[in-house]
Amino acid sequence: MKVINSMESAVRSYCRAYPVVFEKSKGINLIDENGKKYFDFLCGAGSINYGHNNPILKKAIMDYLNEDGIVHSLDLATKSKEEFLDSFQKHILSPRHLTYKVQFTGPTGTNAVEAALKLARKVTGRSKIISFTNGFHGVSLGSLAATGNSHHRGGSGTSLHDVNFMPYDGYMGNKTNTIDYLRRVLEDNSSGIDLPAAVILETIQGEGGINIASSKWLKSLQELCHEFGILMIVDDIQVGCGRTGTFFSFENSGIEPDMVIMSKSVSGFGLPFSFLLIKPRLDIWEPGEHNGTFRGNNLAFVSAKTTIDTFWTTQELEAGITLKSNLLKERLNEITTKYLSSEIEVRGKGLIYGIDCILPDLAESIRDKCFENGLIVETCGSDDQVIKFLPALIITENELSQGLDIFEKSVRQVMEESNFHKKLESEIIQK
Ligand SMILES: *Cc1c(COP(=O)(O)O)cnc(C)c1O
Repeated sequence: MKVINSMESAVRSYCRAYPVVFEKSKGINLIDENGKKYFDFLCGAGSINYGHNNPILKKAIMDYLNEDGIVHSLDLATKSKEEFLDSFQKHILSPRHLTYKVQFTGPTGTNAVEAALKLARKVTGRSKIISFTNGFHGVSLGSLAATGNSHHRGGSGTSLHDVNFMPYDGYMGNKTNTIDYLRRVLEDNSSGIDLPAAVILETIQGEGGINIASSKWLKSLQELCHEFGILMIVDDIQVGCGRTGTFFSFENSGIEPDMVIMSKSVSGFGLPFSFLLIKPRLDIWEPGEHNGTFRGNNLAFVSAKTTIDTFWTTQELEAGITLKSNLLKERLNEITTKYLSSEIEVRGKGLIYGIDCILPDLAESIRDKCFENGLIVETCGSDDQVIKFLPALIITENELSQGLDIFEKSVRQVMEESNFHKKLESEIIQK
């Protein structure tokens, strides 16, 4: 830890919240250098949906390496790319009646976001993008311009432009339909909002505090986009790959985005891997116009294909998520009502849930106490006031209960040892 604290840039962040040196990981556990085991309900911010070192995926990667399978290939045609695309077409796109071209971008989420924004601008000839309050799309400049969080925006050192922010679903309270506002500014020639190339959004805002867009809102947004010739880009980096209970987060909402951005858990194994799904009519790139040295990580092709073949060819995983989702929701509601306040909101879907603690200090104290007790949870939201739960999708009900037992104990301890009750009460009365 000493060398990390002295040598690694001050920008490091997660290692400050969980100040131990981790050495191993297996299934739903992270293990530190002293052998202490933690339940991991952060899962690499949703990059480890199938558990750490999943043995099936690990074997596929080891076999591939043992056979001298190619590791780096720019965007050459490789067997592993071919096999991944075959599986993705056959088991993910076809059964959902979706047609998309696949663009492999650089390996991180923000690389695919940049490609999407660039292509939307190229296709429409317009420069503006509409993003939404509390949206998070990455921290390279183009993506950061579409990210709401002022802490992240503050790091840019330059102007972040060509993005207008509109209120996300629920931003103005339950009674206001924020699409009405968007429609009004698009219809009004003097609103000051130029016709954008695209809207970019998450169907559930992961970093922004587990804010959920309703199907009704998403459908109205899509209608508006069609009406005005605006492209719809769904950033499914965090809430795709089964997190909400279906492979794509938007599957049951009645929308079909023009572009979909995938990353985090697509490799299944935690390897860097991102891609952009593009409606075929929009795929107007010139060959090589957008490129990158690390496009299409072959090891990730292998694990991603194995992930699809293993988990997405039957209904088992999805059924399991529904079951565990109910357990998670019920338990979180119970704990919140019992120790915090019935006024505190528990939000989520599938296996992404958040508890909006209102007070950032409270969320942080609970996170720290959980860590002490052997459970890793993260905070998110505009002021880091929301405790976020992202357990692995393959977690057993028993393991989930054990993790939630630690959570309950930690919340109880924090509330016993502090005067948060008073602060919470006065905060709730003010609201
Ligand atoms: C994590 C994330 C990104 C950025 O991905 P990186 O790999 O960190 O660049 C973009 N959008 C969403 C919704 C994310 O959760």
